[in-house]
Amino acid sequence: MAKKAIYWFRNDLRLNDNPGLDRALREAEEVIPVFVFDDWWWDQDNWGLVKTGPFRTKFLLESVADLQTELRKLGVELQLFKGDTVKVLKDLSSKHQTKTVYGQQEHTQEEFELEQAIAESLTLHLEEGFTLYHPEDIPMDIQDLPDIFTQFRKKVEKYAKVRELKAAPTTWNTSGLDACELPTMADFGQTDPSLDPRAVLEFKGGASEAKARMDHYFWKTKKLSVYKKTRNGLIGADYSSKFSPWLANGCISPREIYWEIKKYEAQYESNESTYWLIFELIWRDYFRFVAMKYDDRIFWKAGIKGRAPKWRKDKRLLAQWAEGRTQDEFVNANMRELAKTGFMSNRGRQNVASYLVHDLGVDWRLGASLFEHFLIDYDPCSNYGNWIYVAGVGNDPRPNRKFNTQLQADRYDTNGKYRSRWSNEVLELNL
Ligand SMILES: Cc1cc2nc3c(=O)[nH]c(=O)nc-3n(C[C@H](O)[C@H](O)[C@H](O)COP(=O)(O)OP(=O)(O)OC[C@H]3O[C@@H](n4cnc5c(N)ncnc54)[C@H](O)[C@@H]3O)c2cc1C
Repeated sequence: MAKKAIYWFRNDLRLNDNPGLDRALREAEEVIPVFVFDDWWWDQDNWGLVKTGPFRTKFLLESVADLQTELRKLGVELQLFKGDTVKVLKDLSSKHQTKTVYGQQEHTQEEFELEQAIAESLTLHLEEGFTLYHPEDIPMDIQDLPDIFTQFRKKVEKYAKVRELKAAPTTWNTSGLDACELPTMADFGQTDPSLDPRAVLEFKGGASEAKARMDHYFWKTKKLSVYKKTRNGLIGADYSSKFSPWLANGCISPREIYWEIKKYEAQYESNESTYWLIFELIWRDYFRFVAMKYDDRIFWKAGIKGRAPKWRKDKRLLAQWAEGRTQDEFVNANMRELAKTGFMSNRGRQNVASYLVHDLGVDWRLGASLFEHFLIDYDPCSNYGNWIYVAGVGNDPRPNRKFNTQLQADRYDTNGKYRSRWSNEVLELNL
């Protein structure tokens, strides 16, 4: 048993059902919890966009604040830093005389490089905690993951089981940790984005908020029972679960959602809708496993396919799209919603992505990068996995995934309410 260890929180900002944390607390006598706001998250990407925009920064700060509060209830102070994770962990390791660090396993390039850099001087124990199905439990080697979602889904549904939840700690042994202050938006050179009254929801980060949202969507309103019928909606808080930002930051685990659905099915009702939310969580898993199988290819222009069509890297067209100035009012409305709120429905995302790639002929990576900046639920695997899918260089077996955005608008915004809600907006994003 290690005497002392560090627990490095990443995209797992919760105490409940956290396998990495559970292991650290079982294996070490004293655990030092730490979170690092790593500078590179606010760097510019290859296309000149700051990776983490203000909506994401705000949600992250709220999520960390909630974690800090929950830890204080156990009498422990979350150690907070802004800077370079490798340096912070090394310094902490010398200060507290331990070389053991626990955390959650990530599977994308930048996160993986960071893990390697840490492992050069410290002993890193990483656990899987992000997916519904543990990667070891899926009935195939990751290299044999089917490239078609349905084949994957049928196999996991038949042969894999979702693990039981890990209980949240009730005690925490550590001493001598100073209280730390949370950074502010200004520390990241950003200002608090004001809440647009048209936003689908006033999203607030944190595990407590995630639980409250689940309670609302399942038990208070029973919206889970009609999810399959409403999930293609565009306006309002309850057409879909809105769990994605909390899932992306790990404020809630997909297993917590899964087992709550099972409870709901046992106590209230089980129908196509209750199943469909699980179905969507399997999509989320799938994109993570695709990233594991193909390493950094989800970020390549040609995706997981060998060849890519000729796309333009046209910043002028990108700006028209991003600022809602295209010929298509449905696309414009969705892009304005994204820029003003940090969120967009799944229906909207599919349409605007298709429009950028297939109508404007712009390289999908520019769109993905803009989403990365804005989306409060940004997750590399889901974002890039969906983008390559729509662009035709991912896991879609159909050769051309072009959406007819006019028909889509007629179908999903029949009376034009959504388009008029987001009309006449003048946006200047300075792209
Ligand atoms: C181009 C594009 C980019 C996207 N980028 C992201 C992203 O960065 N982060 C992200 O979480 N989702 C992304 N999605 C997927 C999806 O649009 C969002 O997960 C969903 O709109 C979130 O709203 P919700 O939580 O109400 O979803 P619900 O409909 O209530 O679904 C429940 C949960 O299932 C998962 N889910 C649903 N659909 C998908 C999907 N297509 N792919 C992966 N997971 C899914 C999400 O975790 C979601 O919270 C993207 C989709 C597209 C087309």
